[in-house]
Amino acid sequence: PADTVDLKSLIRTIPDYPKPGILFRDITTLLADPVGLRAAVDGLVWPFLSSGIDYVAGIEARGFILGGAVAHELGRGFVPIRKKGKLPSRTIGQDYSLEYGIDTIEIHADAIHHNARILLVDDLIATGGTAEAATELIRRSGGEIVAAAFVIDLPDLGGAARLAAKDVAVHTLVSFE
Ligand code: 5GP
Repeated sequence: PADTVDLKSLIRTIPDYPKPGILFRDITTLLADPVGLRAAVDGLVWPFLSSGIDYVAGIEARGFILGGAVAHELGRGFVPIRKKGKLPSRTIGQDYSLEYGIDTIEIHADAIHHNARILLVDDLIATGGTAEAATELIRRSGGEIVAAAFVIDLPDLGGAARLAAKDVAVHTLVSFE
């Protein structure tokens, strides 16, 4: 079960990736561990077993791996939120700021029905910019975001507080100060 597995010990830290001074939290080691992967997915799912979730939305790319498994476990469908230009049908897009410049994520305009209850999944929340943009997309699509779930929180970067300020419930499994 999730609470007997030390998820933190399965996450590898890579210094100076992708840039000098950044400590990258690498979840590939967690994903490759069968007990760890199951514990991480179960840990993301359990608060929402009775939440009436209609769809799980995952953010490209690591949110696809975890979000797909979460959707399977909840017995619900999966909706991808992708980098600009990757989705084939009509999309709506949302810009968000990076440290230098802006990026855009997109969702299919018809992916979710009005008032659909959405659980957003990604691997990690840092500044919260990506998840906040995904929240905007879900709300602009007519969906209701029930919560956002992440394996890793970096609380010093303030993302969870930023989402809470947008009335998004946040669920995280491990944090790195
Ligand atoms: P934010 O928008 O909250 O600042 O950054 C979160 C996004 O960047 C997530 O999609 C996440 O996958 C990615 N990200 C940022 N830093 C890291 C990191 O150290 N490790 C991993 N695995 N993803 C990161």
